[in-house]
Amino acid sequence: MAVIRPVPDRDSAAWWERVAGHEFAVQRCASCGLRRFPARAFCAACRGEAWRWEPVEPEGVVESWIVSHQAFLPGAGGPYVVVMVRLAAVPGALVHGNWLGEGEPRYGGRVRACFTDAGDDLTLVNWRPLDHAQEE
Ligand SMILES: [Zn+2]
Repeated sequence: MAVIRPVPDRDSAAWWERVAGHEFAVQRCASCGLRRFPARAFCAACRGEAWRWEPVEPEGVVESWIVSHQAFLPGAGGPYVVVMVRLAAVPGALVHGNWLGEGEPRYGGRVRACFTDAGDDLTLVNWRPLDHAQEE
């Protein structure tokens, strides 16, 4: 599996810290209560600047996916699948990650995040199919 090391910025650094603790959290505006992802300094709906982290179920549906044949790092062989997931907990929010399911993802298929400790203090959010697990 390819590992592309994310570069946390001012807004996302605290999110990555939570991911390292295997917690999937989004921001919730203290003024209007709107959840948002990715992390931003203020609310797009009410411009409020106060917010808190709120753990949510790391689930959603497959919005799209690609098969990458490009090795971004030496030794990281392809092809591998990257999925774009529409989060259930936050309308309009998309999260991408490596696909850990067998075979190819299914458009609209339900998925759940899993945390992959990639070493060197790096934890990644990857995705597995949810329907499959529930059927067994
Ligand atoms: Zn707000």
